[in-house]
Amino acid sequence: MKFNDLPPWATGLLVSFSLLTSCKQELEKAVPLSAEMKTPADTILRNVEDAYPGVSGIVKEGVLEGQPIRYMEKNGQAVWQGDIILSPEQLSGNGPNSPEQLAQPGKNAKTEGAGMTNPDRRWIDFIIPYQIGAGVNESVISNAINAWQSSTPIRFVPRTNQTDYVRFVQASGNSSALGRQGGMQEIRVQSGVSAGTVMHEIGHTIGLWHEHARADRDAHIIINWHNIISKEEENNFWQYYEGDGFDFDPFDFNSIMLYGNYDFSKDPKNLPTMVKKDGSLWTLNRQSPSSSDARTVKSMYSNLYIIWNGSLYGVNPKDGSFVNLGSGMLAPARSIAEDKNELRIIENGSLWKVNRLNGQKQKLGNYYWGGSVGLTGADPYGYCYAQHGTRLWKIDRFGNRTRLGGVNALENWSGTQAVFYHKNALYVIWKDALYKVNTTTGLVDRSYGSGWYNINGMAALFSSSNELYILSGSSIRRMNLITGTYTPIPGSFTNVKGMTAVGGVIYLVSGSVLYKVNPLTGARQTLSGGWDATTSIGSSRYADL
Ligand SMILES: [Zn+2]
Repeated sequence: MKFNDLPPWATGLLVSFSLLTSCKQELEKAVPLSAEMKTPADTILRNVEDAYPGVSGIVKEGVLEGQPIRYMEKNGQAVWQGDIILSPEQLSGNGPNSPEQLAQPGKNAKTEGAGMTNPDRRWIDFIIPYQIGAGVNESVISNAINAWQSSTPIRFVPRTNQTDYVRFVQASGNSSALGRQGGMQEIRVQSGVSAGTVMHEIGHTIGLWHEHARADRDAHIIINWHNIISKEEENNFWQYYEGDGFDFDPFDFNSIMLYGNYDFSKDPKNLPTMVKKDGSLWTLNRQSPSSSDARTVKSMYSNLYIIWNGSLYGVNPKDGSFVNLGSGMLAPARSIAEDKNELRIIENGSLWKVNRLNGQKQKLGNYYWGGSVGLTGADPYGYCYAQHGTRLWKIDRFGNRTRLGGVNALENWSGTQAVFYHKNALYVIWKDALYKVNTTTGLVDRSYGSGWYNINGMAALFSSSNELYILSGSSIRRMNLITGTYTPIPGSFTNVKGMTAVGGVIYLVSGSVLYKVNPLTGARQTLSGGWDATTSIGSSRYADL
C-alpha cells in the first residue's frame, strides 16, 4: 500500500506513529525536583478523582498541544492533574499552536501536516460507544451517562464493532483519558464509585479539563499549597496552561469538573486545599453537569468553518485552533451553509456537499453557481438558499433548484447584498433594503425598510431567536424581527471578511484576526490570527440543539 493511497485520516495516523519516538523521550525526561512519596490511602474521605491513590510517581515535563505542562508518571502512565491519563501522542510538541510552528514565517502554521498532527479528539457525531467491564455497577454508569445525555448532544451507545470506544473498568482509582484517543480507551472506576465521580470522568472523556486548573482561576480561588498532603500531590493543583488560556463562560463553582475544598489535604477535616477568594468554601457538585459544563461541551462540539486562501479550515470556537480540511476552494461564495453535520459550499462555480470532519467533497447537481450570494441554511428539510443571476433559489440536498418568488415578489433580485435563512424565512438585503421572504410561497412577507449599506455578514445567535445581527459598514446592528427596529451593539468592526454566530456568540474575521464577540457588550476576544485572506465563514449549529 502506497502512502498516497491512504485517506486523509490514515495519513494523520502515520504521522502520529512517527512521533512516538520523540514522545518517549519526553516521557523519560525527569524533572530534577521530582520526589517519590507515598499518599496514605486512609486520608481520602470522599471518593476523590485520583488515578492511582497511594501509588508513588515522578514529576515529568512535557508539551500538551504546544503548551509546556508538568505531569506525574505513575505505573508507566502520564497522569495529569490527578485523574487524566495523557497519551504519548498528546504529549508531543508539534501541534499547530506549538512554538515551533508559530515561529515559522508566513502561513506555515496552517500547513496540512501541522493540522494532521493535532487530530480531532472529539467523538464523531457526538456518539460515544461504550462497554461495561466485569464488576462495574451498571446502574451507576447508566445514571452518569443519562446526566450528560440530558444536557448535551453527546450520546452513548453500546459498542458493537466501532473502532473507537470507551470501556468502564473496575480499578484501584478513578481516571479517564482526555477526549477520543482512537481504539479502546478506559474510564477506570473504583469499587463503590458514585455516579457523580463517573460524570466527572466522562467529562474528561468528552474533552473537559478541570475547572480549578483554568487559566483565570487565581482571580476566583486560592490554593492553600501548605495544606496539600505532600509535594507530590501538588500536581493536582497545577494550571493547565501556564500562559494565557481560553476558558468558556465565567469560573463555575458548580462545575462537575471542580474538585472539593479538602481534596488532597493533610488534614481533610480542618485544612482546605482550595477556598474561594474570600476564604469561603463551595458546595461540591457531583449531582449533574452544570449548565456551564453543558454549554462548554456544546461549544467544543460545534465548529466554525473558514475558507482562507483557497483552503477550508475547521476552527474550534473555544480556542481558535484549526485543522486544514482541504485546499482547492476557488472563488467561494461568502457564506458556508450546514445541513445536519454536512457543509454546503459554492466554489469554483459549483455546489458541493463537504464532510465537515475530513473535508471530502461531492458535487451536487450541474448548475453553474459562480457569483452567487449565499449559500445559507439549511432549513430543517435540507434546503439551502442562494441568490444567483436575477433569482432567489431554493436548493435541495441533491442540488436541484426551484425559483422563489411570485406575482407579489420582486422579479429581479440582482443587486442582492446578502441572504440569510432563519426560522422558516429567507432574509434578503436587496440593494439597501431588508426583506423577509417566505421560503414556502416565495413571496415577500415583510419589508423592513432601507438603510442597509455595505453588508458584511448576517447571523442569528440561536435558531429560535427573534433577532438578527447584521453587520452594516463597521457596525453590528441587533435587529428585532418582531418590532422591525434595531440597536447598534458597541464597537466598530472594520475590514470584516465574514461573520457568523453559534451557541449564542458572534464570531467574525476583522483584518487578520478571528474574534469572538459578546453580542450584548460588543466586547471582543482574539481567538487566532493570520486570517487576512479569509473569503468565507460559516458554522455548525449543533451547539443550538
Ligand atoms: Zn478529573
